[in-house]
Amino acid sequence: MENLIENITSVLKSIKYPGFSRDIISFGIVKKIHLDPDKNLIIEISLTTDKEENKKIISDSIHEKISKEFNFNKINVIFLDNPSEETNSSQEKIDKIIAISSCKGGVGKSTVALNLACELASNYKVGLLDLDIYGPSLPTLINYHEQPRITEDLMLPIEKFGIKFMSFGFINNENSPTVWRGPMVSRMTQQFFENVQWGELDYLILDLPPGTGDIQLTLVQKIKLFGALIVTTPQDLSNVDVRKGSDMFKKVNTPILGVIENMSGLSLTGRVETSSNIKDIIIDDEKINVNPDGSFSFVYNIFQGKSGESESSRLKLPLLGKINIDSKLSESCDTGTPFVKEYPESIVRQEFQKISEKIVQI
Ligand code: ADP
Repeated sequence: MENLIENITSVLKSIKYPGFSRDIISFGIVKKIHLDPDKNLIIEISLTTDKEENKKIISDSIHEKISKEFNFNKINVIFLDNPSEETNSSQEKIDKIIAISSCKGGVGKSTVALNLACELASNYKVGLLDLDIYGPSLPTLINYHEQPRITEDLMLPIEKFGIKFMSFGFINNENSPTVWRGPMVSRMTQQFFENVQWGELDYLILDLPPGTGDIQLTLVQKIKLFGALIVTTPQDLSNVDVRKGSDMFKKVNTPILGVIENMSGLSLTGRVETSSNIKDIIIDDEKINVNPDGSFSFVYNIFQGKSGESESSRLKLPLLGKINIDSKLSESCDTGTPFVKEYPESIVRQEFQKISEKIVQI
């Protein structure tokens, strides 16, 4: 009998928890395996999730694998109603995981991730996980440089600006382990992802390492994503970058929620003497209104003629918004206060708001 239970356990070990690379045994959700007097197999499972879809996937896989290897009259998978203890998967309490990806570094992926997280956090419980092992920028972006606390073998996220944060940079002093090779990086990243105690979250934003290679592909395969956002710059929209990103997510059946164009136009401000009584000025054939205090602002389109809208529709991907180049945005990255918090009235902030509203409607 003991041997039989051991053999059943080892078959159950080949069943992965839906959306995770970990199996249902190591997740600790299988509470009891036994036979009833009629020699029917009973497997009791304790789940904190009430996702019927996950229960069905688990139950179907158990039936399939066990009936292949053993010959029981009946297999009964019972989901315990009120699990007395929590499973060790903090990810079960996360509603939607959204990956922010870019094909190249330096296009503003981390900046977009942080400011979008801030916007979402005004109405939802939000976490941001910086998975960029080679160049974690989150410690600088939020000006936090201490090690996270650990309890019950799990790291506690840093809480700031109403968001829960975790980054390799917090534990690694921002020294990038550049010698690490692909498989090592994806293993380490996945482990890192699983060892954070997020608690309940509506959204977890993942700041992926730049690129669309093996590391990124393995990562997005192992973590069950709600969807992905691709950050790009206007001059890239027309070439292969967005297509590469969309190909990668297609391979793992992850929907692309949309494309965000960063560094679109250049936000500029100016001032004229109020005594001059100038009501408007013309810049590049465009009439700009001057405010009563003499100030004016306009957006200079550096990449004239490029239409993000037509490109994204050609690629059949929604363009969620365009973020302008704003020197204050890069300043805020260096000072550690998210731009949308520091400049709530700005045009760039309004665009972040618009993008986050679109995301929550998906
Ligand atoms: P990535 O994560 O893609 O490598 P970052 O978010 O780190 O890119 O941004 C790269 C640099 O560009 C940072 O110094 C950041 O402050 C700056 N930056 C990003 N977006 C903008 C923008 N719209 N306007 C001005 N500076 C920006």
